[in-house]
Amino acid sequence: MDPVRVEELTYRYPLGEVALEKVSLSIPRGIIAAFVGPNGAGKSTFFWHLNGLYRPAAGEIWIEGVPVSRWDLKELRRQVGLVFQEPDDQLFSPTVGQEVAFGLQNRGYDPGRIAAEVRWALEVVGMAGVERRSPHHLSGGEKKRVAIAAVLALRPRILVLDEPTSGMDPEGVESLMRLLRRIRDEFGTTILYSTHDMDLVPELADRVYLLYRGRLAGEGDPSEVLTRPDLLQSAGLREPRLGALVRGLREDGFLGSLEGTPLTVADARRALRPYMREGSGRERR
Ligand code: ADP
Repeated sequence: MDPVRVEELTYRYPLGEVALEKVSLSIPRGIIAAFVGPNGAGKSTFFWHLNGLYRPAAGEIWIEGVPVSRWDLKELRRQVGLVFQEPDDQLFSPTVGQEVAFGLQNRGYDPGRIAAEVRWALEVVGMAGVERRSPHHLSGGEKKRVAIAAVLALRPRILVLDEPTSGMDPEGVESLMRLLRRIRDEFGTTILYSTHDMDLVPELADRVYLLYRGRLAGEGDPSEVLTRPDLLQSAGLREPRLGALVRGLREDGFLGSLEGTPLTVADARRALRPYMREGSGRERR
């Protein structure tokens, strides 16, 4: 059973246009799923349905096989951890420790267990030892980590992050990538995140879901979806830079025998090495 399944989900804002139109998809367990699409595509609106913040106008959502309408809302929000785009919308406690403890206290855990879980969650996100600091005095990237820790402390089976890399510096993005992979690999958590950073997605996605104007415009393995420049352009996005490079070299008559299009730096390095001529540039080892 897939942990997230959505059938013909449709949503309209009271005074707005249709924000989601008959979106149907299913997300396999334990993967990192990237939701891509330009601003206004419906990514946030989709995410807010997954923990019951929004109710569909039509269609149905199943979390762990149970319709969202049948979940106890508190329990649903423990299972589906939602990290908002703006940490300031999520962080409101005077100290980091209290922030991460908040959800645990709400669930009536005893103080010893709370302290242990807070330490664990902050350690996982690489923020051990900052319990006494104010979340408002942290950098943007650090705030994001604390927001993730607060959600992670409840040990959700599904983690949903709305544009987690927005406003992050390159090092912050790298460490967030490592963190999300670690959460997937160590805890088997199913992770959904949204972005329009097309170079990030091949590095950090097992599957890609392409939203455009409230509809699911494409879905599949990154190597399928992200190597279709026409599809991406028609959905208001661009292809990853490495894909563009390989496509350009092919158009120039090179790489004739190369199968597929490498989209990560590691894959491109491996795939392009045989085409490097000795004596041109650095020696091949
Ligand atoms: P994304 O996260 O992909 O940028 P959103 O889910 O925020 O997209 O928005 C989807 C659509 O819904 C857009 O057309 C947006 O203008 C509209 N929308 C979002 N929030 C509201 C709101 N509170 N009221 C009315 N329309 C909204």
